[in-house]
Parts: sequence; structure tokens; C-alpha cells
Amino acid sequence: MSAADDLARASRRLYALGWMRGTSGNVSVRDGAEILVTASGIDKSAVEPTDAVLIDARGEALPEQHARPSAEAPVHASVITELGAGAVVHVHSLAAVEAAARWPEGVPLIDVEQLKGIGRGAHGDAVTVPVVANSQDMADLSARILAALEPGVPGVIVAEHGLYAWGSSLGEAIDRTESFDWLFDHALRLDRLRQPGG
Ligand SMILES: [Zn+2]
Repeated sequence: MSAADDLARASRRLYALGWMRGTSGNVSVRDGAEILVTASGIDKSAVEPTDAVLIDARGEALPEQHARPSAEAPVHASVITELGAGAVVHVHSLAAVEAAARWPEGVPLIDVEQLKGIGRGAHGDAVTVPVVANSQDMADLSARILAALEPGVPGVIVAEHGLYAWGSSLGEAIDRTESFDWLFDHALRLDRLRQPGG
């Protein structure tokens, strides 16, 4: 199974979870010294290995690529090169966007078993997932994400946009993305339950 196969399979799985509506979202994976990212503007329900584009450390396509990389490729490249991640997942998770709207200074997650899914403890652990403002300038967005990192938290929410999550492998990045989505959804529901009259 090649890295391009893994990328295609991951995209279809994340689409099936409802987090890559339209042509949104993108996935990247380190393949030896190279980085593969999903091509721009493609339907993630039907991604094929040929939709993987090789990019450099700035997120620009290497020579002789048949498609343009995702517009968000520079963010993927900077997380992989600056943090040493093996893979990055970017999804337009509704729960992530809503949690960032509710907690614009960072989303608090406390005492939940599912925290283990992002590499944390369960009971007794408290985590704040950083929230950064959105930008159409990818260098700017990359810098905001790197500046906002919380130690031991493998993800950042971009307000009114979505989630970036990463891991040492594509499998780990996907697992963490799924756990983040569950944790944000849970935090929002708990918050509503605790509202007066909720
Ligand atoms: Zn996006």
C-alpha cells in the first residue's frame, strides 16, 4: 500500500464522516523525504491515489505534478516540517467550528475518557485546544497555528473554518481527528445541558 493509496483511503473515510463536504478538507502525509497532499478542488468521496500531489516544505508542488495541490498545502507543509508530524488532517468539522464560536479563547476539555484518543489522560486531565482566527493568507495562517500550539495538544481549530490535527502517522492523525470531533461535540452538548433551562 503506497502513501498515495493511504491518502485516498483517508480522504474517502473522512468524507464519509461528513467532514469534507463539497470539496472542503485536505490530507497530507510524509513519505520519506517527501510530502504528499490531496489535490485542489476534488470531491473527497472519490479521491484516487492519482489525486495525491508531491509538495515541498513550503507547500508548493514539485515539478511535473499533474494537478495543483490543495490551497491549504502550505499549512500542511509547515506542520509537517516544523513539528515533525508524519501526517496532517484538515476537516471542516461542524463541532470544531461551533466549539470555537462558543470558546473563542480556546476550547476547554476536562475529565473525559475520549481525551485518551488525543494522547492525553482521562480523569484529572484538562486540555485547552487553541483557536486561531481564519486567514486566506496561508503563510499567515501557518504562523498563527504554530504560535498558538499548546504542548501535548495535537490540533488547532481555525475559527469559522475547521480543524487541523496531526500525528506521527496518517492513522494516528485520523484517530485524533475523530476524537477531537467527539470531544467538541460532547463539550457543546454538556454546555447546553448546564445552561439554565437547558
Ligand atoms: Zn479548510
